[in-house]
Amino acid sequence: MGALNNFSNITPKAITEAAERYGTPLYIYDEALILERSNECMKMPNAYGLTVRYAMKANSNKAVLKLIVDKGLHLDASSLNEVLRARLAGVKTDKIMLTTQETISDERRGTLQELLCDGLKYNICSLHQLRLVGDFAAQNNIDVGIRIHPGVGSGESATRNTGDDYSCFGVHLADLSELHEYAASKGIVFRHIHVHIGSGADTDMWRQNIDIELNIIKEHFPNAETVSFGGGLKEARMPGESAADITLLGNYAKQRIEAFYEETGRKLKMEIEPGTYIAANSGYAVTRLIDKKKTARSNFIITDGGMEINSRPLLYGSKHPIYIISQCGTKLVSSEFSAKEHDFEAVVAGKCCESGDCQTLDMDGHAIARKMTQPEIGDIVVIGGAGAYCSSMAPYNYNSHQQAPEVMLTCDEELKLIRKRQTLEQMLENEI
Ligand SMILES: *Cc1c(COP(=O)(O)O)cnc(C)c1O
Repeated sequence: MGALNNFSNITPKAITEAAERYGTPLYIYDEALILERSNECMKMPNAYGLTVRYAMKANSNKAVLKLIVDKGLHLDASSLNEVLRARLAGVKTDKIMLTTQETISDERRGTLQELLCDGLKYNICSLHQLRLVGDFAAQNNIDVGIRIHPGVGSGESATRNTGDDYSCFGVHLADLSELHEYAASKGIVFRHIHVHIGSGADTDMWRQNIDIELNIIKEHFPNAETVSFGGGLKEARMPGESAADITLLGNYAKQRIEAFYEETGRKLKMEIEPGTYIAANSGYAVTRLIDKKKTARSNFIITDGGMEINSRPLLYGSKHPIYIISQCGTKLVSSEFSAKEHDFEAVVAGKCCESGDCQTLDMDGHAIARKMTQPEIGDIVVIGGAGAYCSSMAPYNYNSHQQAPEVMLTCDEELKLIRKRQTLEQMLENEI
């Protein structure tokens, strides 16, 4: 039997087997595809060197981190805990960069300082963050990087645009002179300049940011040695969407960085921080159809995993492909793959007590029916594009549901449990 789609190594048989072995809902990841995407990013064309940092918030399971780091990628962490988590997964501190909205003071300051001495790279995201670490960095000769807010950004929804003036990530250009003044007073120089414009960015905007950022460096950062263009490389989760072209973007970046060298005599190393691009299409949320209902408007199929395993439709109106596997193991595909065979339309709803608990919402939060072959109770409903920002971003204990297990389909086609299902006792263990 073939794979679920033309990029996956995961078959209906593997999914059925995982569901039987570990129960539903669960997440399953395709090891081969994670490796393929990691390789592709490592081969991005560049002028004077490239570091690929996987944005670990996309999927921070230890097994996933190990796999990616073993391929030569470094990590971008969004919190001090993510740094600690990566270290517990065996990642060397000097391969981790911290870019966070957190301010690290008081009892955690000591932890941060130890990590900095051990090689952690720290991307300052505000003037206050710099002040909190300034004396220590100056005394210990530790370089800090800086995340710049460029004033323009792009994302698949307004809530994922991190570069425009509706969001507050990084140091705004308007604050730069104050920041430079402080840094100069301490003798701190910035060698790493970073911009991340948003998730699922428009490719033209991603390209445009390369020029914007290089201009910012030319004007404000005479000591810069590294330029990070951040993440946001778009993945095509739904058929008909197009993914970012890594080679094309790399070629553009290479040409602009070479032009920068000709103009300034400075050779910049480049970094990128893909999260989605590495992990999104490797993962599937596997659920079981537990009920069917109708309203005057739509059919509904109800699954045993919804917003508590994939909150993206509710948060962003994101669209995910849906595959149905009948109990006898036949794939009954939903309409986005082949419209003609389908005679049935249904909204895919979860089991939470929440009308927004639907996998098929539009941007306004309306439940939209998808075409599909009529499924039966007991069939498996698979949500694709669920390798990034699903498990890691799930409000999993809502309605007291348990956090779902994670399974890896390895390159030699073995199913490996990489996280167990949470127990009810674990859910309650900290209550007193
Ligand atoms: C989230 C994030 C990324 C990754 O974004 P994707 O859209 O998943 O590629 C990269 N860099 C930073 C700083 C981030 O916060």
